[in-house]
Amino acid sequence: AAKRGSSGVMVYHEQLDSGSSQTLSLLSDLQRAIGAGELRVFLQPKIALGSGELVGAEALLRWQHPTRGMVPPLDFIPFAEQTGFIRHLTLWVIDEILRISPQLAAQGHALSLAVNLSTRDLMDLELPDKIGERLARFAVPPEALKLEITESAIMDDPQRAESVLARLHAMGLPLSIDDFGTGYSSLAYLKRLPVKELKIDRSFVMHLDREDGDHKIVRSTIDLAHTLGLEVVAEGVENLAIWQVLRGLGCDLAQGYFVSRPLPADQFEAWATAWPQQ
Ligand code: C2E
Ligand code: CA
Ligand code: CA
Ligand code: CA
Repeated sequence: AAKRGSSGVMVYHEQLDSGSSQTLSLLSDLQRAIGAGELRVFLQPKIALGSGELVGAEALLRWQHPTRGMVPPLDFIPFAEQTGFIRHLTLWVIDEILRISPQLAAQGHALSLAVNLSTRDLMDLELPDKIGERLARFAVPPEALKLEITESAIMDDPQRAESVLARLHAMGLPLSIDDFGTGYSSLAYLKRLPVKELKIDRSFVMHLDREDGDHKIVRSTIDLAHTLGLEVVAEGVENLAIWQVLRGLGCDLAQGYFVSRPLPADQFEAWATAWPQQ
């Protein structure tokens, strides 16, 4: 169904075409899933390429559905974004990582834990207060909670997103630009937003050791980020060859299957303690 959005622009609602009863059932299924403990936060390590030190982790949502099995995030997050339910999911993920963060710190792992934000989150003018209240409740310093934001999430209403992000930045939360290179107007946002980190999308990283074009893009992106004073993370580091190329290029951090797949929180704790002896 083509509908007129609040901006007057025609918006195409894909999900609603498949029948609103199906939409409602997925929505109630998701609401039920939170209460039933079917949603899990997995953590994937971010490693400093120079020192080999574990410095952080990204929180990635997993849904262990009783009949559908493991539902990948791309099968429910776009839907959660369309319905607005993502705002509940985001706060749930934040609560989970704020609960885990002090446990990790107590074991000597003072890590920067990152959560992915969506457009809907950035449209919520109360998000900074909601996050501030949670940081206080869990006694976690703002520097320990990183926010990963895609350029497309800012696009909807850049002014509003920027005002939300400016407040979060002022509160001391580090911001990271996610999927860098896959959106548009990348450079304009880099200049305007108070970001600390830039993540190179895995589509540029995965074949870095074999594709000359990818190598050039990654090299220039690292140089650009450093010129702007930002830390660079490469995601999708799948093998030693890619790891070594990135190290040679001066990339700061690596994240990918070569180091570890995303792990359930309890397994992550054990993994962090064993690193780098594995
Ligand atoms: P993303 O933010 O770009 O996250 C990185 C994705 O790359 C994750 O997929 C991760 O498992 C995968 N990955 C990491 N290392 C490798 C590697 O070496 N090789 C390959 N092939 N893949 C690797 P995942 O967990 O399936 O998540 C997909 C996307 O779903 C995420 O992309 C993010 O956009 C979204 N997502 C996941 N969890 C959340 C969440 O809690 N909130 C929001 N808003 N979005 C989320
Ligand atoms: Ca991310
Ligand atoms: Ca990505
Ligand atoms: Ca993404």
